[in-house]
Amino acid sequence: MVIDVSRCTGCYCCFTACKDEYWDNDYPPYSAAQPKHGQFWIDLVKKERGAYPWVKVAYIPVLCMQCDDAPCVKAAKNGAVYKRPDGIVIIDPEKAVGQRQIVNACPYHLIFWNEEKQLPQKCTFCVQRLEERETPKCVQVCPSGALMFGDLEDPKSEVSKIVASGKTEALNPEHKNKPRVYYLSVPKLFIAGSVVYGDVDECAEGVSVTLIDQSTGKPMETSTNNFGDFEFDGLGGGKYSVKFESKGYTAKTVDVDLKIDRHLGVVNLTGAKP
Ligand code: SF4
Ligand code: SF4
Repeated sequence: MVIDVSRCTGCYCCFTACKDEYWDNDYPPYSAAQPKHGQFWIDLVKKERGAYPWVKVAYIPVLCMQCDDAPCVKAAKNGAVYKRPDGIVIIDPEKAVGQRQIVNACPYHLIFWNEEKQLPQKCTFCVQRLEERETPKCVQVCPSGALMFGDLEDPKSEVSKIVASGKTEALNPEHKNKPRVYYLSVPKLFIAGSVVYGDVDECAEGVSVTLIDQSTGKPMETSTNNFGDFEFDGLGGGKYSVKFESKGYTAKTVDVDLKIDRHLGVVNLTGAKP
């Protein structure tokens, strides 16, 4: 699965569809019915970024990452958690009864404990639907195309092409479990601000803004919109220079030591128009 975070609107259709598919429904031998409350096999992590006057919100869909090096498989006894040849990790709903240690093994905290059944449970990529040549339910209902699903072995599939582009990343690479859910546009840091022409006290539209990463010297360019606003998103932490240039005005450079999302406030450009 490939998840494009920039396309997710936080509508919760996937969340609701997953509950509809699994609440009170058994799919032997892959999953037992999910309880009505307390389990979210796909969930949304809401991430608020920045501060007034520049606040952004991202919704990050999370579900079992189907790890190639899965600690849940290692933690299970009697082969109760196994990886299928197609890469999907399954918790056997009979063999896993009573094996609470499986819940604690997942570094992403994406396994849930069913108290009534004494059973660990999680997303199965809707394997029962795949057998009917359907996509997982969350993928089917996502109205914005944020969730993409396919066969990575098929070089012509959409997911193969996206992963081959090298633009995807793991959600928590520090876990090092070789996850098979690939993410695009995971929120990072931004530098934003508003530019005004000081002599006329008006929003400065079309100002050329150049961001230079001081460690690499690599530049990024944008220009201000009709409100005089600009933004560079997807940045890593570190030291940057932001240069503002507009014909007839004195160029200005602001240095930024980026540790958290930054709005530079109002940047005044001064100098006589030609
Ligand atoms: S995300 Fe957690 S439950 Fe899923 S395969 Fe990896 S370790 Fe197991
Ligand atoms: S259905 Fe799609 S857009 Fe809606 S919350 Fe889920 S991933 Fe995001």
